[in-house]
Amino acid sequence: MRFCRFDDDRLGVVVDDLVHDVTSVLDRLPPLRWPVPRGDHFFNHFADLRPRMEEMAKTVEGRPVSSVRLLSPVANPGKIVAAPVNYQLHLDESRADKQINFGGQVKTIDDYGVFLKAPSSLIGAGDAVVADWPDRRIDHEIELALVIGKKAFRVGEADALDHVAGYMIGLDMTIRGTEDRSFRKSLDTFTVLGPHVVTADEIGDPDNLDFEITVDGEPRQKSNTSLLIWNVRRLIAYASKAYTLYPGDVIMTGTPEGVAPVAPGNVMHARIDRIGEMSVRVTG
Ligand code: MN
Repeated sequence: MRFCRFDDDRLGVVVDDLVHDVTSVLDRLPPLRWPVPRGDHFFNHFADLRPRMEEMAKTVEGRPVSSVRLLSPVANPGKIVAAPVNYQLHLDESRADKQINFGGQVKTIDDYGVFLKAPSSLIGAGDAVVADWPDRRIDHEIELALVIGKKAFRVGEADALDHVAGYMIGLDMTIRGTEDRSFRKSLDTFTVLGPHVVTADEIGDPDNLDFEITVDGEPRQKSNTSLLIWNVRRLIAYASKAYTLYPGDVIMTGTPEGVAPVAPGNVMHARIDRIGEMSVRVTG
């Protein structure tokens, strides 16, 4: 199943190019009272909602996805875990390009482990990335992203994929400079997820997906997730050693070579096999 959040927080099931509004299944969600449970409320109850979403989608008319404004399909992730330098050729380009490394030594993911991006940086495909630091280089990084569906703490690689609800295209927007990654990758609008979530059963093996991004039609990054240094299973196992992964938590798996600047007015077009594609505007 493919599902999205759109317009004024409507929930949609996506079939081909049509979105079927199934928002009323959310009436089943228990009311919340402060302090709310950890995790995203929707993904905490996804197993219960899913069959109802699938049933209802068959009974309501669809309308073109192109006619709605896509929001991030994950509304309230507790955390966004991200992988630094997780493709060899991106490691090589980072070491070669002073505008990326700023004179610092670029180590490997084995040295860095993973890092966190602020959930407040999150937008969907229908929103725009705001690049309003004119004296600084701001790059696109296309990444396979996943959302956790089942709580994970200290899970092994063999069981790791059982904890994934689904996959999305992720853009890990980055301002280059000397500051810590958690600053440079957490500016408002610097995490894009979309266009929808594709449930894990439709993806099967996440470690063999072609993906690419163009900017104003110009090819920029093109790779395959089989080239990940730490694959999806290893990232989940590693992250869950340190912190509990809750339903709704997001993992961004890292970007390949070809990172390059964007500027206001650009349109990024990103595509991942078996997930879909999305266009995202950059504004000033
Ligand atoms: Mn990245």
